[in-house]
Amino acid sequence: MRLDGKVALVTGAGSGIGRETALLFAENGARVACVDLSAEANEATVAAIAAQGSEAIAIAADVSSAEDSERMVATTTARFGALHVAFNNAGIMHSDDGDAVATSERTWDLTMNINAKGVFLGCKYEIPAISASGGGSIINTASFVAIMGAATPQIAYTASKGAVLAMTRELAVVHARDGIRLNALCPGPLRTELLMKFLDTDEKKERRLVHIPMGRFGEAAEMAQAALWLASDESSFVTGTDFVVDGGITAAYVTPES
Ligand code: NAD
Repeated sequence: MRLDGKVALVTGAGSGIGRETALLFAENGARVACVDLSAEANEATVAAIAAQGSEAIAIAADVSSAEDSERMVATTTARFGALHVAFNNAGIMHSDDGDAVATSERTWDLTMNINAKGVFLGCKYEIPAISASGGGSIINTASFVAIMGAATPQIAYTASKGAVLAMTRELAVVHARDGIRLNALCPGPLRTELLMKFLDTDEKKERRLVHIPMGRFGEAAEMAQAALWLASDESSFVTGTDFVVDGGITAAYVTPES
C-alpha cells in the first residue's frame, strides 16, 4: 500500500477534504491522527476509519492555537511513535468576507489566524517530529484563489491562501536537504459544505461554474487523491509546488460555454 508504515496527521478531518483524505490515507496503510475543532465530526471520521479496519485517533484542537498545535503533534507521536505525513488542511471561508472596504478587521484576523497562522503553527511543530522520524511530506491546503483574481471578493481568504503558498515555498527550500518535502495543494471550487454555504444561491453557483472548463465543481475525494500522491513516496522529487487541482480554471482564458 502507498502509505504502508506511515503515520499521518490530518487537520480539518471532520469534514470535506480532510475527512476524505483521512479515510484515503488510512485505506492506504497509514495510521492517522485526525484533528478538528469539532470533536463530534472528527470522532465520526475516526469511527469510519475504524470500520474500514484501520487505526486512527481523534484529537480535538484549534489549529490557530500554538498550545493546541503543539499538543496535536505530541499526542500523535506519543500514540504512534513517529510522524511522516502532515496535511495542514483546516480552514474557513467567512460569510462576511468581501472586498477591502466591506470586510471587518475581526473577519480578517479570524481568517488569517486559522488559515495562515494555523498552517505556520502546524509546520512549526510537525517539522521537528517529521525530522526525528527520518523525513516525510507536508501538504498545506491553499486555493486556486491564491493564484487567480476572483470576481467574488473574499479578501481575507485570498490573502490567507497567498500566505500559505509563500510560506510553503520557503519552507520547502529551507528543508529540502532535511528529507522533508512541502507542497501546497490548490483546489478549485468544490462541492463541499464550505463553498456551498458561501455560494448560497443558484445564481452565485452558476456564476462560478462559468469559469470552470470542466463545467462542474470538484469533489473532496478528488483532492484526497492528490494529497495521497503528494504524501506518498511516488512524489519523491516534488517539493515547493503550487499543486493545482482545479478542473482547468487556472489554464483557461475563455471556457467552452462562456
Ligand atoms: P469544510 O468546512 O468541509 O472542512 C473544514 C474543517 O476544518 C471542518 O471540519 C472544521 O471544523 C475544521 N476547522 C475549521 N476551523 C478549524 C480550526 N481552527 N481548528 C481545527 N479545525 C478547524 O471545508 P473543505 O472544503 O473541506 O476545506 C478544507 C480546506 O480546503 C480549507 O483550507 C479550504 O480553505 C480549502 N479549500 C476549499 C475549497 C472548496 O471549494 N471547498 C477550495 C479551495 C480550497
